[in-house]
Amino acid sequence: MARPGEVSFAHNGILFLDELPEFPRNVLEMLRQPLEENSITIARSNQSLCFPAKFMLAAAMNPCPCGFYGDTARECRCTPGIIQRYLSKISGPLLDRIDIHIEVPAVAYKELRGKDDGVSSSEIRDRVIATRAVQQARGYYNAHIPARALRKLCALDDSGERTLEMAVRKMGLSARAHDRILKLSRTIADMDHAEHVSAKHLAEAVQYRSLDRNYWS
Ligand SMILES: [Zn+2]
Repeated sequence: MARPGEVSFAHNGILFLDELPEFPRNVLEMLRQPLEENSITIARSNQSLCFPAKFMLAAAMNPCPCGFYGDTARECRCTPGIIQRYLSKISGPLLDRIDIHIEVPAVAYKELRGKDDGVSSSEIRDRVIATRAVQQARGYYNAHIPARALRKLCALDDSGERTLEMAVRKMGLSARAHDRILKLSRTIADMDHAEHVSAKHLAEAVQYRSLDRNYWS
């Protein structure tokens, strides 16, 4: 008897996978169906069951097996081959389905102990609520904009088009990653209270595809 797994337990919530490359590759590839369809089909010899699996995927990983690649204070001892093998556990098609990839450098001790608390969570929450309201009024949350409405809702000016073309060429982005960048730039524009997506919003969205950059550079 098939039973619901972690992706179904995370239904309407967050699925957090720490140390992403430590998961077996076939398990990670299984995430592709629920990420696309918000449900998962489990086929057994005598039956096929479908469970709900609408979750927000959040995952964390190190830049390399030792964890110090790119660190300014500690030395990474991994060879390029080892790093490549580690990163390649996350397939291109899976990365394509993740909206935002972001590098988070280690926090220096001084900053950790600093007095500046930055922006509070409640301020950020207010910003998120306001941004979602803009999207709701438009008819779609940006992540759910259908392909047919994408060009209209995320229309770019000439300089935006040039920025996007350059990013796609240089990073060898897939059609899926291209669409995600457009949707994300729409969100950045919404947070900026801007009616149109500008080259600046687009350039910021491209920054949040750091694993595509690492993959292809
Ligand atoms: Zn390393």
